[in-house]
Amino acid sequence: MNRIFLSPPHMTECDRNALLAAFDSNWIAPVGPDLERFEAAVASVAGVDHAVALSSGSAGLHLALQLIGVGPGDEVIVPSLTFAATANAVTYLGATPTFVDSEAASWNLDPDLLAEGLAEAAAAGALPAAVVTVDLYGQCADYDRILAACAEYDVPVIEDAAEALGATYRGRPAGSFGQAGVFSFNGNKILTTSGGGMLVAPDESLVQRARHLATQAREPEPHYEHHEIGYNYRLSNLLAALGHAQVSQLAERIARRREIEHIYRSRLGAIDGIGFMPHPDTGTPNHWLTVITVDEQRFGLTPHELIAKLAAADIEARPAWKPMHLQPIFAELPMRGGAVAETVFATGVCLPSGSAMTDADQSRVIEAIEYR
Ligand SMILES: *Cc1c(COP(=O)(O)O)cnc(C)c1O
Repeated sequence: MNRIFLSPPHMTECDRNALLAAFDSNWIAPVGPDLERFEAAVASVAGVDHAVALSSGSAGLHLALQLIGVGPGDEVIVPSLTFAATANAVTYLGATPTFVDSEAASWNLDPDLLAEGLAEAAAAGALPAAVVTVDLYGQCADYDRILAACAEYDVPVIEDAAEALGATYRGRPAGSFGQAGVFSFNGNKILTTSGGGMLVAPDESLVQRARHLATQAREPEPHYEHHEIGYNYRLSNLLAALGHAQVSQLAERIARRREIEHIYRSRLGAIDGIGFMPHPDTGTPNHWLTVITVDEQRFGLTPHELIAKLAAADIEARPAWKPMHLQPIFAELPMRGGAVAETVFATGVCLPSGSAMTDADQSRVIEAIEYR
């Protein structure tokens, strides 16, 4: 029996040909025509004019925060329920994340708690330098309310859309809501370049600055001239060629993941004790991962026991993200609320959702849950 993975890379002949064509062109370095094509394609999906391809989503978050002026001693509001990369990037700049709970309706940053936190910070004369939103599991946060709260206090927003390429909120694409948006093309994301990321922004000068910092802040001089500290964050042209081929297949990838979630919902939805991540009708997720919730009393197994059962059947499932305020490294930092993030972590299980998963493999997953 083959092992069924959570979200493995989905590669086709089209991807293979694009990669080999770039190889044959000898544009292997972090410069080349495929970078421009990949950037233009992702900018177009995100509905934003400018983009720079980077070595990771984490690099994109780091640069985005730096470029909007986050620095040592600053506070940055981050949802607790996310992957560590969101909070880590804040610390790279010597700033401190302050965590806020999610709302039950979308599992994303709670707009009411955010507004409350901003009002208190304003009253204390200590507004955060930025708010980072996360579009969890490929579903946009509630931007109408989040952007209104941030606009009231003039606090800039960075959108961590690492998981959400192709999702929309009220018709507007993920990645377009902040001063900058960040995507990841890590191996398990909906599209992948094995490792990679992209920063997108409506402001051309911000993206130019990001490109400059991502290439060791090298000045356009024949000799090596540097006026500030830079990073080696640029994506290789070889991987950009792969990324460009991947983006051309995004619509099919999303359609397939939507179908996979639909099948899970129709076949597991009636099982007592199984629920699903809620999808408010404000948007269309990209269905990166199908996440179920397990009520241990009614289902008869804890999420942990279910994951172990699936592992014994060679099926990879994972708990939902462990909230940042429960992480030993961040445990001392401020946290507003917490019940929603804690419940999602205590009950959530991410099921295999890869777009290349066959119907037969998905049935194996479903039957392993049914006949637990
Ligand atoms: C994957 C991910 C990142 C980081 O992207 P990398 O490309 O792995 O650095 C950041 N935030 C979230 C929410 C992610 O899921």
